[in-house]
Amino acid sequence: MILCHKIAELKKAVRQCKKEGKTIGLVTTMGALHEGHASLIKAARKENDFVIATVFVNPTQFGPTEDYAAYPRTLEADCKTAEAAGADLLFAPSPEEMYPHKDMTWVEVTGPITKVLCGRTRPIHFRGVATVCTKFFNLTECDRAYYGLKDAQQTQVLQRMVEDLFMNVQLRLMPIVREADGLAKSSRNVYLSREERTAALVLSRSLKHAREAYEKGERSKSKLIAMVTEEIKSEPMSNIDYVEMYGMPGLPEVGETITGSVLLAVAVKFGKTRLIDNVVLGAEA
Ligand code: AMP
Repeated sequence: MILCHKIAELKKAVRQCKKEGKTIGLVTTMGALHEGHASLIKAARKENDFVIATVFVNPTQFGPTEDYAAYPRTLEADCKTAEAAGADLLFAPSPEEMYPHKDMTWVEVTGPITKVLCGRTRPIHFRGVATVCTKFFNLTECDRAYYGLKDAQQTQVLQRMVEDLFMNVQLRLMPIVREADGLAKSSRNVYLSREERTAALVLSRSLKHAREAYEKGERSKSKLIAMVTEEIKSEPMSNIDYVEMYGMPGLPEVGETITGSVLLAVAVKFGKTRLIDNVVLGAEA
């Protein structure tokens, strides 16, 4: 696997791929790679001739009070994980490399899709994500890019961006990878104390119960939201940011009676750590 930090080196590899007629699969990450990230790299490996993974803690998607400085940075271990999962090239640029000018060019998806759920408390987050992903799509000229449904809203925002800007990339959305006890894998799980980690299991548990209720025929949006909210609140260490439901794809508002496919998503703080999790009910996303 090639490790490179500079755009010039990345472009050289991309040019070579294009010359050889190879398809390119891309997995963008912020590093501290775990099996969730590895699952995306493995999926890209299956469907493309050349697989590029990126490790970049993107400053523009963090709010001023968020964990940019503290975010785990583990490049050496990330190289091993990416290579074992099948990456051909790992691109780990500096912020200066990715943002050469102080005055930035932004890509911003507007409307409720970026205002609901995480957008409410993270108003600049999706603008940072859309901007950096556009840069990575342009740099890698990828045919397919792989994203985890763990960050379900991100997948919908990026899908909208790709459609609106007629980008020549196919987004492939992949299932959430969980720990054996149900906790969704996340680079931020390392922040949790032992007690907080145990408490955080309430997220996957409550979403599982909601799925079971849905499968038994429950179609009331308010009842499913209330069920999950009550169960999470019963865990004293939890502090709910949101428990909400929107349509899939595209996150439109949904009525009281669920008909099509919906996203039931939660964001909850345990101590200082904010975790997200979700389940898609109904047809495939
Ligand atoms: P991040 O490094 O958190 O920006 O995530 C990079 C990519 O990995 C995103 O597409 C995430 O949705 C995906 N990802 C993170 N955690 C998981 C997980 N537990 N299962 C599947 N995909 C994940």
